[in-house]
Amino acid sequence: MRIGIGYDIHPLKRGCKFLLGGVEIPYKKGFFGHSDGDVLFHAVVDALLGAAGLGDIGEHFSDKDSRWEGVSSSVFAEKTLTILKKNKFKILNVDAVVIAEEPKLSSHKNAIRRSVAKVLGLKEADVSVKAKTNERLGPIGRGKAVAVMAVAAIQKVGKK
Ligand code: MG
Repeated sequence: MRIGIGYDIHPLKRGCKFLLGGVEIPYKKGFFGHSDGDVLFHAVVDALLGAAGLGDIGEHFSDKDSRWEGVSSSVFAEKTLTILKKNKFKILNVDAVVIAEEPKLSSHKNAIRRSVAKVLGLKEADVSVKAKTNERLGPIGRGKAVAVMAVAAIQKVGKK
């Protein structure tokens, strides 16, 4: 078994969508980013690539590459799954912590979990999404940004 860690942070801006794991959450602000700014998928992709020892999100889906402009981050997750399969890895589980002062995410956690599980071809039980505030500390605590930490466990399949 191999594990990987991922982290991402995105600034919040008015007029942008607030997307986590492909689920749009109603809020006055959203993520400013090159793609759709889905900070959860970005952290999860980095955790998966890290577990496989296959680089990071910037190497595979560069923000300087116009192909990825405005693209749904679920595409990054799908393509990462393909990369893992090509390298004979299967995902065991994914766990993530969303650090956001606002909006309250408790009523959305299960939808996010289902969405991430679907994109990665996992059972809901193998995906965990937790939410925390930053206790009003720093830029996250002032509602200027949202960060996500993620870990993933993967396993080599087939012959050694
Ligand atoms: Mg990002």
